[in-house]
Amino acid sequence: MLEKILDRFLEENLQALRDQGLYNEIDVVEGANGTIIQIKGKELINLSSNNYLGLATNEKLKRVAVDAVHEYGVGAGAVRTINGTLDLHVELERKLAEFKGTEAAISYQSGFNCNMAAISAVMDKHDAILSDQLNHASIIDGCRLSKAKIIAYNHSDMDDLKRKAEDAVNSGQYKKVMVITDGVFSMDGDIAKLPEIIEIAKQFDLITYVDDAHGSGVTGKGKGTVKHFSLESEVDFQIGTLSKAVGVVGGYVAGKRNLIDWLKVRSRPFLFSTALTPADVAATSAAIELIANSSELVEKLWANGDYLKAGLKDLGFNIGNSETPITPCIIGDEKLTQQFSKRLIEEGVYAKSIVFPTVPKGTGRIRNMPTAAHTKEMLDSCIAIYEKIGKELGVI
Ligand code: PMP
Repeated sequence: MLEKILDRFLEENLQALRDQGLYNEIDVVEGANGTIIQIKGKELINLSSNNYLGLATNEKLKRVAVDAVHEYGVGAGAVRTINGTLDLHVELERKLAEFKGTEAAISYQSGFNCNMAAISAVMDKHDAILSDQLNHASIIDGCRLSKAKIIAYNHSDMDDLKRKAEDAVNSGQYKKVMVITDGVFSMDGDIAKLPEIIEIAKQFDLITYVDDAHGSGVTGKGKGTVKHFSLESEVDFQIGTLSKAVGVVGGYVAGKRNLIDWLKVRSRPFLFSTALTPADVAATSAAIELIANSSELVEKLWANGDYLKAGLKDLGFNIGNSETPITPCIIGDEKLTQQFSKRLIEEGVYAKSIVFPTVPKGTGRIRNMPTAAHTKEMLDSCIAIYEKIGKELGVI
């Protein structure tokens, strides 16, 4: 019998990935994703989740989610525009707008979905998008979906952005031009140069779009990177995720009332994909309230980030130029980085290696994500294990 084209395609390509060592075997976490996780029966200190404030396993949020299930059930039942908009969604969006200092907000089923939704609802083939070279995959895919011309600028290079903005606007080829950036870049922990970006945007009448997935709940005393620079009234699209510091799942856009009204009638995941579940929305709402009203967790997160960074730096590791609690430990060589991560796991620390093509060749790193929930003892153990492996592998 003839071999099916799909079977051949999959076999050949999977084998090629395995041969190159690029096939990612997924680790299964047996239980909750807290500061200690269990994988294959072994307990490990978790330095790899985006659960910055420890809210994914917060007792109050768990209770709120369970209560919502009792009252509303497990599903929203429909897309938002039919009858999937529960009072819980409206309440969440009101809180998000208040939290972000905007007129209104709209929520989506994920941060990824949100970028797919929002960019393509406003930009089209007559437009151009200036996009930081290191922007997240969901921004890149959202840009592609819009069919606008994508013009990448060098990472945080304001001269390059200005030159490209000027060329795009002066060419007269585009009806609208947008500039998009991550608020915090997740591989290095650096913060976008928003004041300069806004300056350039004003000069060339660019639409401004900031995806603060890694900044919300972290920078700006928890309110995010736009707030950190007091630019709430200058950024058109403030994007966030509800899955990282907020600890649950979902994404959102905060902005002017007209923008949000437009997204409600034109963004396709809002129109054609079932709404976030009652448990997600209730827990998220409670999490936003918690972050907005208490600085304790955010302060703890930063203190833990500073502690881990100082510990690794004192040992002689290269921790890059992070401006946030994200703590990369740059090893360099790809194979050595992977070996380092493997040894960390053997010694009891779950911190993953990140190598080319996710980061440039020769800058392989272990990305450490300390959270507010880690104890000093846990971080001390991590630092001691880093020292042992660093010496063993000749990195320090
Ligand atoms: N935007 C950025 C900048 C991100 O880092 C991520 C998550 N890796 C997302 C969007 C996607 O968010 P979510 O996980 O909520 O889909």
